This record gives sequence, C-alpha cells and structure tokens, in this order.
Amino acid sequence: MNRISIGIEDVKNSIRNVPNFPKEGIQFKDVSTAFKDKGIFKFIVSEIRNNYQECGITKVVGIESRGFILGSILAGELHAGFVPIRKPGKLPSETFVQSYDLEYGSDSLEIHTDALDKDDIVLIHDDLLATGGTVNAAVDLVRKFGVAKIYANFFVELDFLGGRKRIAKDIEVWSLIHY
Ligand code: AMP
Repeated sequence: MNRISIGIEDVKNSIRNVPNFPKEGIQFKDVSTAFKDKGIFKFIVSEIRNNYQECGITKVVGIESRGFILGSILAGELHAGFVPIRKPGKLPSETFVQSYDLEYGSDSLEIHTDALDKDDIVLIHDDLLATGGTVNAAVDLVRKFGVAKIYANFFVELDFLGGRKRIAKDIEVWSLIHY
C-alpha cells in the first residue's frame, strides 16, 4: 500500500482470516498478508514503537516463531536487546522450561537461564493473544529472573477469547489490533 496516511482499519483489512486452520473451528489470523505490505509494515512497527518509547525497555522477549518478526525489529527500534523464547529442544544452552495450553493443543516453551537480569525492563511480544496460555507461560519464564518490570504486547488480540483477563494484573498489556 502506497497511501500517505495508513490507519488502523487498513491494517485490520490487511490481515487475512483463514477459516478452519490449523483445525476445524479456528479462525486463523494470517499476519503475513499485513507484513508483506511495506507501508502497512512500517506503520505497524512505528505504532508499537511509539507506545513503548518512554518505557525504558531493555530487552524485548519474542515468542517463537511469529513473535520473532516484529519482536526483533522492536528491539532495534527501542535500543533494547532481543531474547528468544523457543519451542522445546531448540535452545542450545541451559534453559528454564514451562508447559502451557494452546487454543489448539498444548506445548512448552524455553528460555536460556542467562537471558535476562534483575534490572531488565522486559517487553514480551507475540503476534497474537488468543486464550493467553502462551503469554502466561512466557511471563512465568521471565518471572524466574526477578526482572524490574514486564510489559506484554501483541500485534493482534482476540478480545472475545478473554486472554487478557488471564494475564496477571501487574503486567501492562497493549495490543494494536482487536477483534
Ligand atoms: P494463546 O496461547 O491461546 O493465547 O494462543 C496464542 C498463540 O497461538 C500465538 O503464538 C498465536 O500465534 C497462535 N494463535 C492462537 N490462535 C490463533 C489464531 N486464531 N490465529 C493466529 N494465530 C493464533
């Protein structure tokens, strides 16, 4: 999209809805159709960056795998470090492990035991908040380090699934797009 003024509705319209993927009954929000548009992508990055500019974020923690796309760019934009939270068996050194339930299935996540410090101000990022199981596992992993503050950000939030209500009250949650 080459329009000079891109807005939230343009971003929303650029996200493809794929019914019954990866399972019957799931309305999958395909963010790749938003990310492939250079104007939309730039707008998304700047909107999220602007929201956290004054927060003193020292580390962005991205959740595998779609959380790595914006997460690493946000780390650069916010002059912060980037830390990956990955699926089991992917990280090469010593890890903390946390199991969680998905909207479709269950899994576990890992973080390197030396990834964060007590004085870190952490922004956890994932592409989408559904039931909240994934981000809560990420929060549990980040809490093991006793960091100074934790924020959670999503590109897309499915409000009707109530994931936000399941996130602890001390975590500031903000999403760019809501369904
Ligand atoms: P949840 O743990 O239920 O909050 O699910 C969030 C994670 O699952 C994110 O990493 C998403 O990428 C993925 N996910 C869950 N539901 C959807 C959906 N309807 N469309 C796209 N991704 C989803």
